Amino acid sequence: MLQIYNFMPNLNTDIKFLTGVGEKRADLLNAELDIYTIEDLLYYFPFKYIDKTKFYKIDELTAELPYVQVIGKLVGMKTEGAKYKQRLTATFADETGYIELLWFKGVKWIKSSLKADTEYVLYGKPSIYSNKINIVHPDLEKLDDYKSKINSSLEPAYNTSEKLKTSFLNTNVLRKLLQTALKQTYNDIAEPLPFEIIKKYNLISLKDALVNIHFPKNNTILSKAEYRLKFEELFFIQLNIIQKKLYRNNKQNGYVFSKVGDYFNGFYKNNLPFELTGAQKKVLKEIRKDLGSKTQMNRLLQGDVGSGKTLVALMSVLIALDNGFQACLMAPTEILANQHLETVQDFLKGLDINIALLTGSTKKKDRIKLHNELESGDIHLLIGTHALIEDVVKFKNLGLVIIDEQHRFGVAQRAKLWNKNINPPHVLVMTATPIPRTLAMTLYGDLEVSVIDELPPGRKPIKTLHFFDNKRHKLIEFIRKQIVEGRQIYIVYPLIKESEKLDYKDLEDGYDTITREFPLPKYKVSIVHGKMKAANKEIEMQNFAKGRTNIMVATTVIEVGVNVPNASVMIIESSERFGLSQLHQLRGRVGRGAEQSYCVLMSGYKLSQEAKKRLGTMVKTNDGFEISEVDLKLRGPGDIDGTQQSGIPINLKIANLAKDNQIVLLAREAAQSVLDHDIKLEKPENRPMVNKLKSIFDLKKKWSKIS
Ligand code: ADP
Ligand code: MG
Repeated sequence: MLQIYNFMPNLNTDIKFLTGVGEKRADLLNAELDIYTIEDLLYYFPFKYIDKTKFYKIDELTAELPYVQVIGKLVGMKTEGAKYKQRLTATFADETGYIELLWFKGVKWIKSSLKADTEYVLYGKPSIYSNKINIVHPDLEKLDDYKSKINSSLEPAYNTSEKLKTSFLNTNVLRKLLQTALKQTYNDIAEPLPFEIIKKYNLISLKDALVNIHFPKNNTILSKAEYRLKFEELFFIQLNIIQKKLYRNNKQNGYVFSKVGDYFNGFYKNNLPFELTGAQKKVLKEIRKDLGSKTQMNRLLQGDVGSGKTLVALMSVLIALDNGFQACLMAPTEILANQHLETVQDFLKGLDINIALLTGSTKKKDRIKLHNELESGDIHLLIGTHALIEDVVKFKNLGLVIIDEQHRFGVAQRAKLWNKNINPPHVLVMTATPIPRTLAMTLYGDLEVSVIDELPPGRKPIKTLHFFDNKRHKLIEFIRKQIVEGRQIYIVYPLIKESEKLDYKDLEDGYDTITREFPLPKYKVSIVHGKMKAANKEIEMQNFAKGRTNIMVATTVIEVGVNVPNASVMIIESSERFGLSQLHQLRGRVGRGAEQSYCVLMSGYKLSQEAKKRLGTMVKTNDGFEISEVDLKLRGPGDIDGTQQSGIPINLKIANLAKDNQIVLLAREAAQSVLDHDIKLEKPENRPMVNKLKSIFDLKKKWSKIS
């Protein structure tokens, strides 16, 4: 039998070889916590620290307390229930009272390991059950053992899963494994960050950071460890993104649109119905510069709803056509694609430009014809939905891709459009969901960013009101008055997947009420929702858009992009159920004409703190960027639209994109400065950094888990 003597693990050692792990536990650590190597374990950070100087008395316990420590004795134990569903209850007492402890798993083992009349330190989360405080699955440690071991007043606590706990991989065991791992590999922990960066940003070494993030001596050193590890995490993300961008910019692979020709000039002279805003001009300039350079454009155009992005996109398309290229415009929904088609046809009247529409509802026969005309170059501009991405859709010479409401699409979809010509076409992605700057840097750090920060002139800021449901009669009055003045009104109902059935019922009830209050023939009410056939939706939308109906009752299908300037009132039912960015998007449907517009948020009386904050923010401001900052703080970056699809590891281990803005900026600056001096990252002194970069973004080991 093979014997290994003096085996010293290093950071890359498979976790199964760490003392105390072995095959079985390793499998669990792989599957449950994504821990494959000792390094992975060291980067599995505590989710909090328990103040070991604080002990509670039993009569102080409430269900609101987090994890607590209590000293006491077991004064009774019994097992109950059928053989395979046994549970263990114990009574734990100190001089102030009793509580009940409960175990549902590992009953036999736990029972045999616990002793009566011995003093224990209990660690657990108090909860309440039939009016009594109890603690489920507490950890108990003999007071003597506890005293002999304590070395830090802050003890790390680790998240574990049910599965891990039943296999006794609880927070105590993880703590022990980490102690072993740190002891055995301490000397092996190399410093990945360049010395200048460490110095300039006043960072502690990785070694010290890892030791102190797990076993901090005090709060000061803990903060330093956290700072260092956050910085490192964000630094490598930025390094990766900026490097990609530099690489792309260095490759001379872009089609050069050198001239501005008849299409653009003709449009500008004869068709443009209004003066461009300063912001539109500025952005067009930025885009023209990209298109004329030899590198492929990858630009994100951010602009609040109604800021006039479509026009900027359209004028970019004209430049592509002037240079003999085709263009396409992709939107997330059929309604929006249809609307774009109409807008564009309207704008381009009299110009000799062939525009086609391709969506999921395009008939097969039309499709075949369309495919041919795209390949022959007869179609200049293709507008559509996801259907554009499909491999069968081929162009003669695609030069520009525009993606509207970018946050609805993923990177993979963007990438597919890249392959529709020999060199990748220029790409302009547009979004009306402003995202905070530091988040944009992380998610779209490889894109250039343009911002339209000015609305077309003459727009009156939308007035936003919040009504509780008991003011409904006032609402009806308000609607009536608006209709008399010739305005049109949206009433939007939430549609949440989990409660779809009830939501549809609310929508239908709402529609009934509205048609009763506003009966034919004097009033006309449209309805649009996701269950309708596309053709019917289209008819209803058109009726409303053309002013043939007064009220549009709808679910959020109308959220994106719809443009009906005469609609000046947006009523959002159960508004407390919507997220901030969605509310803002919905509100953006009004305020598009010259009239004063209103947004009315209806809600029930009982509102959570968060809902109050959301509605309050809506009432207070129209500024999309301000709203996105609040949104980010409320929800955290993982839930912000678009982050899921971005392909960036958004579930950061320690940094928080909502809170660590400042560190994002510094980390980006640091990454930029490293690349300024070593653009290809090939200097020997940067080798440890490159190795770390590779190991972070080498997803192979993660994929092996999935496949
Ligand atoms: P969004 O940025 O939300 O996509 P749109 O492109 O739909 O905004 O523009 C909103 C409305 O403003 C449209 O009716 C558009 O024709 C109009 N618009 C765009 N630019 C200007 C401008 N410079 N002056 C006046 N109206 C404009
Ligand atoms: Mg738009």
